[in-house]
Amino acid sequence: MMPAITHFPHFIDGSWCPPDNDLWLDAVNPATGQTWARIAQGDNIDAGRAVDAASHAFTKGEWSTYTHEQRAGALINIADSLEQNWEQLVEYEICDNGKRISEVKAQFSCLHLWYRFFAKQALDVKPRRLENQVPGVINRAHYEPFGVVAAITPWNSPVMIATWKIAPALAAGNTVVIKPSEHASVSTLKFTELICSSGLPAGVINVLCGYGHEAGEALVEDNRVAKVSFTGSDHGGRSVAIKSAQGIKPATLELGGKSPQLVFDDADIENALNGVLSGIFLSSGQTCVAGSRLLLQSTIYDEFLGRLIERVSRLKAGDPFDIDTDIAPLANQAQLKKVLSMIATAKKQGAKCVYGGERTYPPGVADGYYVQPTLFTNVTRDMQLWREEVFGPVLAIVKFKNEEQALKMANDTPYGLAAGIWTQDFERGDRLGCKIAAGTVYINHYRSVSTGSPVGGYKMSGYGRELGPEAIYDFLQVKSIWRGTQPCADPFPLDDS
Ligand code: NAD
Repeated sequence: MMPAITHFPHFIDGSWCPPDNDLWLDAVNPATGQTWARIAQGDNIDAGRAVDAASHAFTKGEWSTYTHEQRAGALINIADSLEQNWEQLVEYEICDNGKRISEVKAQFSCLHLWYRFFAKQALDVKPRRLENQVPGVINRAHYEPFGVVAAITPWNSPVMIATWKIAPALAAGNTVVIKPSEHASVSTLKFTELICSSGLPAGVINVLCGYGHEAGEALVEDNRVAKVSFTGSDHGGRSVAIKSAQGIKPATLELGGKSPQLVFDDADIENALNGVLSGIFLSSGQTCVAGSRLLLQSTIYDEFLGRLIERVSRLKAGDPFDIDTDIAPLANQAQLKKVLSMIATAKKQGAKCVYGGERTYPPGVADGYYVQPTLFTNVTRDMQLWREEVFGPVLAIVKFKNEEQALKMANDTPYGLAAGIWTQDFERGDRLGCKIAAGTVYINHYRSVSTGSPVGGYKMSGYGRELGPEAIYDFLQVKSIWRGTQPCADPFPLDDS
């Protein structure tokens, strides 16, 4: 007999909450193609319930009385709980999105650090006395939470990306409704259950499941939601930006990328190879900073390409739970279809597939959403592969002659999320780093994120920043408070003459 499939309802006001319409979505394990759980398909009534809980917690609940120190304490409690219990969550994330166990463990074992970092920021936010030219007054800036924050997250790293929103939002004193991806919600639900058991008052964090165009839109449109923080595709981001603008509420958008990696002929080639491989093939290319365009100086083009093909040919597809697996599946069937269709278009448009380019299966596995690591040369700027995000293990490779040409190619994209520069000439690295239009530039390094370093995009990659020294201010609004220290002058004095 097949084991019963567990149903995961919403998590609202500190407890599990079944969907109003009793509709459920399949959670499909991308390594097997099998349904392994079901999640609630939320509608506007469920969205309203989640916002009721968050709104009550913000205005009337115990959380509304918390001082900065108590908020910092709550974040430390979450951090302690995660540090002790993160391993419980690993399996859920792998079943949800097929990410390799080593990558999930690396992310989850560090989750607690983000909460510790923002616990400090909670204490750093203080009213400031402001300079002013008006005699007889004192003017101060106060920083206040918005209220209910909608945190909308994608499927590629659901728990980590939710953390980048939750930790600063709570440090600032807000309450949160998370809307995880319909393709990967369970790890976020279990994570929220875990962190709420650390003593956080009910309703401070809630999870609303369901489709973006149903639950997600209903959440953004709810006029009690005061701030939206969205990570996802530019398509979803544009819709969220429009709805937020209609409700006159601020939105932070972390969107896609088509990030270039520039390799100069003076680079340490082995180092650059490692950076290029990790940039595009970790998480099967499903990371926002994927280095999906490789720009090689013509003098090392043949050597670098030969070595790259040799390294890629060693990568083995396998079970994401197996520590020896190099290539895990794509996270869902829709993504598989998209990636295969973009590969087919690249071939049709004349790009040359020099490695991979097909669906694949690990030995002994008959299903699963695996795609070979894929390398294309002869890519031109009019091709879809040059301009559009694949979000899969597909690398577009081109040649450049000199620095000027490399810069032009690097910036020849509607996106601006990240870039990598590989050179021993540090002046050149810094010079290019300043001229490339991207929110993050790595020199002789790629892909790291850290609490203290801002993440965000230029151009179509979005606006606003997460993480970094100012991250908490994205979740605070500033109030200017004036206090008179001298009597006010009569604005209409009697004329004694
Ligand atoms: P997506 O836009 O399809 O969905 C993201 C989230 O938004 C999901 O929860 C979805 O349900 C919701 N959503 C979609 N449309 C919505 C709408 N109209 N109103 C409200 N909510 C809506 O993106 P995805 O396919 O889940 O994620 C992949 C994308 O995310 C890629 O483009 C990737 O580059 C991007 N991403 C960006 C970053 C970053 O930091 N910049 C990080 C990770 C992923």
